[in-house]
Amino acid sequence: MKYCIKGGEIVNPAGEYSGVGDLLLDAGQVVAVGQELPVEDAVIIQAEGKMVLPGLIDMHCHLREPGREDEETIASGTRAAVKGGFTAVACMANTNPVADGAVVIEYVLSKARQNGWAKVYPIGAITKGLKGEELAEMGEMAEAGAVAFSDDGKTLTNPAVLRSALEYAALFDRPLLLHEEEPKLADAGVMHEGYWSTVLGLPGIPALAEDVMIARDLLIAEYTGGKVHFCHLSTAKGVGMLAEAKRRGLNVSGEATPHHFTLTDQALENYDTAFRVSPPLRSEEHREALRRGLQDGTIQVIATDHAPHSLEEKHREFALAPTGMIGLETAFSVAWTELVLGGWLTKEQLVEKLSVNPARLLNLPAGRLQPGDLADLIIVDPEWEWVVKPEEIASKSKNSPFIGRKLKARVETVWVNGILKYDGQKFVE
Ligand SMILES: [Zn+2]
Ligand SMILES: [Zn+2]
Repeated sequence: MKYCIKGGEIVNPAGEYSGVGDLLLDAGQVVAVGQELPVEDAVIIQAEGKMVLPGLIDMHCHLREPGREDEETIASGTRAAVKGGFTAVACMANTNPVADGAVVIEYVLSKARQNGWAKVYPIGAITKGLKGEELAEMGEMAEAGAVAFSDDGKTLTNPAVLRSALEYAALFDRPLLLHEEEPKLADAGVMHEGYWSTVLGLPGIPALAEDVMIARDLLIAEYTGGKVHFCHLSTAKGVGMLAEAKRRGLNVSGEATPHHFTLTDQALENYDTAFRVSPPLRSEEHREALRRGLQDGTIQVIATDHAPHSLEEKHREFALAPTGMIGLETAFSVAWTELVLGGWLTKEQLVEKLSVNPARLLNLPAGRLQPGDLADLIIVDPEWEWVVKPEEIASKSKNSPFIGRKLKARVETVWVNGILKYDGQKFVE
């Protein structure tokens, strides 16, 4: 199909044309971006007052397949992705079985080809069974299509294993995505250690648990010259150390999640397990540091860490409930409301963090609107105001911390490879 999107504001920091204009797409590709493009034989889409953006890319989500198809599948997770404006997602290896060899990577890719709504890029495990002991078959997985490696959900506590993993991953030019929490310092903690953990009488996880691991791993990254990406940064010191490491020229990067830059540990005051997450929601000073880190470019990526859990399991006593929140469908609107309308980021910076930079870090052919590129793009209505409702969630799990929250901006239309997947806030079946 040939489409001409007319008169929208094209926000395209990595491409040649930005500003109000038209975009022509045909046969899966962007054909032209500019002003007053010819429209003959194209389906015309009026986009005045709307924004046209490159498809968003989530470099950190959990699709739960194989193993927990009751919580999410590749089909339902990519449907949620498309609804949130993500045309590509990279999914973590902590499935059951763990994605620690080519077989699971190939399984994920074939499921995605069969019934994926967005593109799926699997992430392979760093160690076999996520046990932190023996390196997984990285070469085999890279060849099968793994775009990065991560033991996310677990911290690599053995520094010698991290050292060899970094040296090994460098052979395939793949980054390691690290979940940083020293388990002995986190101990039995269930929330951020601070004022609210004292008030609520819940055991805390100090910011130190994350900081100690980031400090260690920056030293190892420097020693090996490997590519390290820090998942879900949540502490002020962590952001500071990342900034310092970048100034020294290390090949390091980091991400923040919408929940960490929006919410604080005060959200736990009713013991609502929807707010239990790893790393935990922290205090105001940490939230501010994440916003500043996003603003000054220290944190290049916004990732969802979309982590579906059944309500059955979330409806347990706080300390027993699993950690994690879904986020694919709310990420753009939360970031728009909090960071762009809040004056922290420009539109261009937001597109960099949600599309351009994740594409660069994972070496994906995406992140810009340029003639000849694959047509992964979205239309957003920045004026649309909506309230997050569980019955409107496309994900199989409904564990969103933003239910009931009023947000601005909503994804309206989505193309993946030039195929219309979502239009007028409805799936194109
Ligand atoms: Zn994690
Ligand atoms: Zn995760």
